[in-house]
Amino acid sequence: MSEMIEKRNMYKDIEDEMLLTKEQIAKRVREMGAQITKDFAGKDLTVICILKGAVVFFVDLIREIDLPMSLDFMAISSYGSATKSSGVVRILKDLDKPINGRHVLVVEDIVDSGMTLSFLKENLLSRGAASLHIVTLLDKPERRRVPLKADYYGFTIPDAFVVGYGLDYDELYRNLPDIGILKPEVYEK
Ligand code: 5GP
Repeated sequence: MSEMIEKRNMYKDIEDEMLLTKEQIAKRVREMGAQITKDFAGKDLTVICILKGAVVFFVDLIREIDLPMSLDFMAISSYGSATKSSGVVRILKDLDKPINGRHVLVVEDIVDSGMTLSFLKENLLSRGAASLHIVTLLDKPERRRVPLKADYYGFTIPDAFVVGYGLDYDELYRNLPDIGILKPEVYEK
């Protein structure tokens, strides 16, 4: 009972029509995992989770990749307003292990302006990785400010601020199992 009330509380700030349900997400994550399994067979793979937004996608995706892999984590913060990134990126937690000679797969939640991933790509490539590929669950191509292309995309979405499945607003809604559009009145007030 208390669980249901909690859920209603979380969903009340989300537009009625859910953008992506947990079933749609799970199906797509399975497909992406199968593709990555094919593409990286026989390679020394390091999969990097970009904290915190990508964490839910990451834990689901790695279990759909049937290959040996090392995991690592990087936390970054992008200066800007709560709903728009400025492209100025600060590393809050760096990788634990060097990545030189490794085939690196960076797992990100969403590509918006592309500024965060451009910075990360350059930063990680300078460390001597054998290869660097980017996988993102969501893509908002309309908002791109730098020409950034990921290698694997889950879904293309319209220009709206979304939360759930790891994505937050002010640290909330990350635990929502689906992905929905946050009602503008939540961040405009
Ligand atoms: P970019 O540098 O590509 O503009 O922004 C990437 C980061 O901005 C993402 O990793 C994510 O943290 C945040 N972001 C961009 N769009 C959204 C969105 O619609 N919802 C949420 N919760 N975060 C977003």
